Amino acid sequence: MYDIHEAIDRIRIIDGHEHLDMHGIRKKNKVDFFGLLHYLDSDLISAGMEREVLSRSSPISDEEKAEQFVSFWNKTKNTTYARMLKISVSDLYGMDDWSVHGILQLNEKVKAATNDDQWYTKVLKEKSGIDMVFTLVQNMNVDFSLFRPIMFLDYSFKLRTRKDIQPVEKQSGVSIHTFQHYLDAIDAIITKFAEGGMVATKLGHAYWRTLKTAKPTFFEAEQCFNRLLSSFLEEPMSQPESVVLQDYLIHHVIQCSIKNELPIQIHTGHHETSVSSSGNMITNSKVTDLLPLLAEYQDANFVLLHCGFPYHQEYLSILKNYSNAYADFTWIYILSPTIAKQLMHQMIEMVPQNKIFGFGGDYNFIEGTYAHQKLARKLVSDVLVEKVQHHMLTENEAVEFAQRIFRDNLIDFYKLKV
Ligand SMILES: [Zn+2]
Repeated sequence: MYDIHEAIDRIRIIDGHEHLDMHGIRKKNKVDFFGLLHYLDSDLISAGMEREVLSRSSPISDEEKAEQFVSFWNKTKNTTYARMLKISVSDLYGMDDWSVHGILQLNEKVKAATNDDQWYTKVLKEKSGIDMVFTLVQNMNVDFSLFRPIMFLDYSFKLRTRKDIQPVEKQSGVSIHTFQHYLDAIDAIITKFAEGGMVATKLGHAYWRTLKTAKPTFFEAEQCFNRLLSSFLEEPMSQPESVVLQDYLIHHVIQCSIKNELPIQIHTGHHETSVSSSGNMITNSKVTDLLPLLAEYQDANFVLLHCGFPYHQEYLSILKNYSNAYADFTWIYILSPTIAKQLMHQMIEMVPQNKIFGFGGDYNFIEGTYAHQKLARKLVSDVLVEKVQHHMLTENEAVEFAQRIFRDNLIDFYKLKV
């Protein structure tokens, strides 16, 4: 009999969403074990640890950090974030001693890996079976042999002060004296990034405002923009005052993405606490609030990240009906394997298989990506075995489905040359 788990383990993944720094930056930042905590850090804080106490800028010694870590590890080791850390350091560093002494030894091994020029290739290509990774970056300096850049565009519409206009002014090289100048500058930036190899635009605004977007007129947005232009550099407008301008610019970014044939990745659902500036207002990221945009821009390609969890049932309904909406399982397996499996079951039952992207690790460091892909392959295999057992799919159809969601769909959709 065909072994579905084995077949899926052999698929060379195209990873649709990460936050990985290039190796040179990791080396420069001297990343150690405490630099690998990322998501687990959120659980440690949720369990009562003081925020930032294990960070690079923390004044305490490595030994004190290890003591802090071990005491909170014992409170959090049940969560999937913790399991991911455990799997990654056990498989990649041979870690099996979760004492203060063991953590300090591991810390030395992580520092050595950070200085190893082959570490990225070894972990991503060899150990994880990944051929290409989309990574969220602030500039286009990425290693194109393994990565493709996706730019966060929130900075272009998160305007609350006169000063917030400067990054767009700088990046575009356009002097901005009118609202039209500003729109042209955004246009120029997106076109420049597209020509430079950016594969999608990304909107992460659910972390700092609602996804609900009205349709203000040019005149309304211009009035707001002019108020900003003539204000003091750091004198802030309130969020309700500037929302008209933001809404208009969100439409503009979508239109520029369409013009450049770029898909638009949008954060929906759950928040990561370390980057949330809204205090984790989960109701800001309701996927149903995107419906007016989905209805208006039939010619756009919207990639709705993270399966909309905890609004994932509405998400499924939207995905089933909108031809311009694409499902993306980035992050979801490590949020909850149970939910991810249930969602994958329903996705197979409801959504055309060309519209599903099966993996994005969403990690800041490659060790996390490794553990996440291992879990994703296993969960998808488990679901497909169940589907075959219930005669919902044949074995061949099951493996074809996995091949599509982990690889072929991304190559087609993002027009990749692999
Ligand atoms: Zn992300």
